Amino acid sequence: MASLITKILKQLFSKKTIPAEQATYEEEMLLHTVMEYSRIISQFIPYFTTLSSSEKQRFIKRTWYFRNSKIFHYIGLEEKSEIPVLVSAAAVQLTFGLRRYKLGYFKHIYIMPDAYQFEKPGDLYIGHVSPKGIYLSWKHFLQGYENAADNVNVAIHEMAHALEYNNFMDHADADPKFRADFQLFPVVYGPAIAHMITTRRSYLRSYAYTNIREFWAVSVESFFENPAALKSAMPKLYYVICEILKQDPLAAERNTTIVEFAK
Ligand SMILES: [Zn+2]
Repeated sequence: MASLITKILKQLFSKKTIPAEQATYEEEMLLHTVMEYSRIISQFIPYFTTLSSSEKQRFIKRTWYFRNSKIFHYIGLEEKSEIPVLVSAAAVQLTFGLRRYKLGYFKHIYIMPDAYQFEKPGDLYIGHVSPKGIYLSWKHFLQGYENAADNVNVAIHEMAHALEYNNFMDHADADPKFRADFQLFPVVYGPAIAHMITTRRSYLRSYAYTNIREFWAVSVESFFENPAALKSAMPKLYYVICEILKQDPLAAERNTTIVEFAK
């Protein structure tokens, strides 16, 4: 199957079509699937449209593998074919520079129609991550991508938590390289919080300063939604995220390793 999806994607992106009489049923079905993936992702995820043709192929392939490695649960809303594709694509966007991208610690993804209660009645969530799975409000997922420059994207936020969990839980899918890079994060967290306390101003929304986990997830939202503004307001933070995620949204080629850590 691995070579088949690569072959199909190459054909799709080189605009060479397989004559119908030569294609097997399996090839036709897979071609149909990847065309749907490409259509849905192009429509909703601006990041994808900025990729080169070979990066787009890799993005779709990863989305397909990610989607097929998860079980999606729909709580109070109807199942729609674009939901698992787009949720998988959000994870792939975050991990596009990394070798391990499937967040193997998590098998289950739960989708709710809107903000939901969890644990304590009264508290409303639009997403969270627990050892049981990744939870997202579909309404807020769409809002995160509809407004592409407000620094709020709940899918990226929760996937950033999931990526951290995935690598720090004792699990076969953890990546020691990621863990080592992630240790760079406190280097900027301390000074950033000190600056925020003294000046009472920050480029990041105040929720970032709840704790280091939220600082990471909120920073990553800005990193993708407004890379140039984050780079100019908090350059050290920007470079550290480039180093941890092994991608630079401002660079022409996403998969080239960039970065010089500004010490
Ligand atoms: Zn959070």
